[in-house]
This record gives sequence, structure tokens and C-alpha cells, in this order.
Amino acid sequence: PAAARATDLSKVYGQGETQVVALDRISVEFRKAEFTAIMGPSGSGKSTLMHCMAGLDTVSSGSAMIGDTELTGLKDKKLTQLRRDRIGFIFQAFNLLPTLNAIENITLPMDIAGRKPDKQWLDRVIQTVGLSDRLKHRPNQLSGGQQQRVAVARALAAQPEIIFGDEPTGNLDSRAGAEVLGFLRNSVRELGQTVVMVTHDPVAASYADRVVFLADGRIVDDLANPTADSVL
Ligand code: ADP
Ligand code: ADP
Repeated sequence: PAAARATDLSKVYGQGETQVVALDRISVEFRKAEFTAIMGPSGSGKSTLMHCMAGLDTVSSGSAMIGDTELTGLKDKKLTQLRRDRIGFIFQAFNLLPTLNAIENITLPMDIAGRKPDKQWLDRVIQTVGLSDRLKHRPNQLSGGQQQRVAVARALAAQPEIIFGDEPTGNLDSRAGAEVLGFLRNSVRELGQTVVMVTHDPVAASYADRVVFLADGRIVDDLANPTADSVL
């Protein structure tokens, strides 16, 4: 089965005159252990698609599934549980808690969920993102790239079925961005993690296995093994 799947998914904002069709009957499958980039002009529906797939927004019609679970019709409580237990998020703003140090930020979602992190896994994740000697640092003592690596480690720590990233390197310089993307790609290649990321950046997209292009709420292209040139 797919890690996530949209079928005839539509999203309409507003009503009557001010109605906006953000997604127009989208069908797409995100396969396990695949790194997908979602690209398209501003306003084409990228964030809306990601939010609907991640259970952060409701769909107007059609279906959004994580694994075998249909999101539409789930009660808020179940949806919150599903996001917490099965999905990882990486946002453009790192969304770290300023009063907690790096390791506390990384394990916070699991602490809240009352889950114990697998120590061996956590060690691997921390080592791979290169944070071993920064674990006691608070966010304001870390560079932007380091903060985003904390956010990536936080998403990976719970071994979610799928990670959604919204411009995960949007706030980073190209070197720090490349590091974060390389780590995301490794987590797909070597750990079988599934990642779906929205990006404007062709270089960022070239790290993915596949690029899905949106325009006006529809999928207009779906490209395997992208290069920075081929997605410009
Ligand atoms: P992208 O991420 O590709 O820039 P979005 O998914 O943010 O596109 O937006 C798709 C369309 O839906 C745009 O026309 C946008 O103005 C509209 N839209 C997004 N969010 C809302 C909202 N909360 N209320 C009304 N319209 C929205
Ligand atoms: P490189 O710099 O050669 O791309 P990394 O520093 O990214 O390698 O990764 C070092 C090693 O950590 C990899 O060889 C791999 O075995 C392991 N690794 C990669 N990604 C992850 C991950 N998400 N979690 C744990 N270990 C990983």
C-alpha cells in the first residue's frame, strides 16, 4: 500500500463569489520510502495539498489517506492522535521551543505522547544530523541550519510513517540547506523513511526521487529522478 494517497481530492475555500478552488480533483500516491517534492507557482495549491494529506486541514470532497486510514470523517481527537503517532512535520520556521535545549526539543513530541524513544535509533538520528555535541544548546545558541537539523531529528525520532516538509530549507543558506536535504535523502535511502516536501527551489527538488508539479489546483506533471535543470 502507499504511504499516503489522495483520490479525487478537492478543496474549496470560501463561498459564492469569493470561492477559490485550491485543489481540483487531485489523485496522487506517495509510495513508501520515496522522497517526493511538490512544486508549482505560488497559489497553485501546494500547501493546501500537504495540509489535507497531513490532516491539518479538511477536504471538501474526495479522499485523503495515510496508509490504510481514511482521514475524511475522522473526529478531531482521532486526527490529533494520527498526526501525533504517525506523521512527522518539518516547517520553514523551525518551531522549536526556545526554553528547551536541542535534545528536549527532539524528544518533546514523544514525551507528550507518552512514548519512549528507541535509544539506539535516537542515537543514530542525532549522530547523523551532526548534533551530538549540541544537545544541551538552546535554539538561540544554534545556527539556523543546526536548528533545522534539530527539527528534522524531531520529525525522525518517532519513526513516523511519513514526514511532510513545508519549504524545510526555505530559511537556510544554500550550504545549510544542502546538509538538511542530504540528511532527508539519507533517511529515505537508508532507513526507508517516506518524505513529501513542498519547495520552490529546483536545487532542493533535485534531492527528491520525484517531483509532482501543481498548477491551478491540478497535477500537471509528475517527474522521476529530477535534476535542478529539469525542474526549472
Ligand atoms: P501554494 O502553497 O501553492 O502557494 P496554497 O495552497 O497556499 O498555494 O493556496 C492555493 C489557493 O487557495 C490560493 O488561491 C490561495 O489564495 C487559496 N487559499 C489558501 N488558503 C486559503 C484560505 N485559508 N482561505 C481562502 N483561500 C485560501
Ligand atoms: P554522508 O555525509 O556521507 O552523506 P551522513 O553523515 O548523512 O553521510 O550519514 C552518515 C551515516 O548515518 C550514513 O552512512 C547512514 O548509515 C547513517 N544515516 C543516514 N541517515 C540516517 C538517519 N536518518 N538516521 C540514522 N542514521 C542515518
